[in-house]
Amino acid sequence: MTMAAGNQMQVLIVGGGLSGLTAAGSLRDADIEPVVIESDETVDSESDRGVVVLWPEALTLLAELGVAVVDDDTASVVNTWTRREPDGTVTHRRESDTGGIVTLPYATLRQRLSEIVPEGAVQSGRTLQSVEVEDGFATATFANGVREQFDLVVGADGARSRTRALLGGPTLHQFGTQTWTFPLPAWQNQNEATEIWSREGIVFSALPAPEAGVGCLTLPEEKLRHRAKRQPVLTKLGDAREVLDWKLPTALDEVDETDVQAVADMQLATNVWGDRRIALVGDAAHVKHQLTGLGPTLAIEDAVALASELRHSDDTIQARVAEYISCRKARLDQLETVSSQALGDVETTVPGSYRSLLDIRNAQIEAHFPHSDHNSP
Ligand SMILES: Cc1cc2nc3c(=O)[nH]c(=O)nc-3n(C[C@H](O)[C@H](O)[C@H](O)COP(=O)(O)OP(=O)(O)OC[C@H]3O[C@@H](n4cnc5c(N)ncnc54)[C@H](O)[C@@H]3O)c2cc1C
Repeated sequence: MTMAAGNQMQVLIVGGGLSGLTAAGSLRDADIEPVVIESDETVDSESDRGVVVLWPEALTLLAELGVAVVDDDTASVVNTWTRREPDGTVTHRRESDTGGIVTLPYATLRQRLSEIVPEGAVQSGRTLQSVEVEDGFATATFANGVREQFDLVVGADGARSRTRALLGGPTLHQFGTQTWTFPLPAWQNQNEATEIWSREGIVFSALPAPEAGVGCLTLPEEKLRHRAKRQPVLTKLGDAREVLDWKLPTALDEVDETDVQAVADMQLATNVWGDRRIALVGDAAHVKHQLTGLGPTLAIEDAVALASELRHSDDTIQARVAEYISCRKARLDQLETVSSQALGDVETTVPGSYRSLLDIRNAQIEAHFPHSDHNSP
């Protein structure tokens, strides 16, 4: 067994994704030594995660950490947001005056975050197998059988978190929808995001992104039941073509089948956040549906909050973990209870199970795109 050495607090961060790298970067220059293990062979490889959205909550934190996400053409800024009817008629147009939201490839963001992580902190190709917490330390066992002791283990290992499973946390379950993303070449170079929530529960959004825009289409599973599993994906999306005649049919005609990515619509109850010397961050602690668009932002917020607690508190590690949990639990609980007024009329057109997603979505839009223009086409 390898023993932790010196007086520095030894922190094992399991997962070199968005939350793990943010946590490690936030601990640099502190009297804390982070070790990030990542089961992928590298953290800067091209990833098939596509494009992620960052809300101002995350952009502010990243700017404080010195992570530049909009300094070149690898990111797009969205400062106008519209909601439309399925035929394209604008029902709401809102503008941001604070820079809006940013879209960029997951792989680019991961690369930028890895630049603020202390040199040598990331150990790629290493996988956590188990953790045992005893008095005074946490012992991690890796897939190769090596055991090491740490003061704290941070589970930043994503939606299918091993760390959460070791804590006896809940498993993921399907939301009852299926989402696909695909490039939208004609959406290039615009600063507008738009979305359509149809009465039938089909949701289509179009976002600007570097190189090509991104289309994101969500269908309730009941709309897909009559489709054979092996049907080509573009055929499966036929029902959406019938409901939405704005942009979508042309986009699907133009897209190459191999560029359409399926995203699992999962959710996870937020009820296990850690235990004594283990803390969960990001998707390991909570998985939000794609339609909220908040996964990356919440992952970054969690990581900064935990690092701040570790850096600035003199309490015991257990007390710092408890304080982190209390603060983040309050943030996630608050998200579950938001309800919005200004865009509320759309609620009547979507199925009941989408209501909470739409509420979260509307609250984010109202907060960050404050200028409303109901009369603009
Ligand atoms: C396939 C996919 C597509 C997505 N598409 C979008 C999208 O289009 N838009 C959007 O906004 N959000 C999207 N998301 C969600 C978004 O990527 C997450 O919310 C965000 O990345 C959460 O950050 P995280 O650090 O918690 O997890 P991640 O970024 O997933 O990082 C977790 C890391 O842990 C590593 N890991 C896992 N287990 C172990 C282990 N036992 N030992 C060591 N390392 C381990 C993984 O390899 C991974 O690198 C997508 C998620 C997935 C899975």
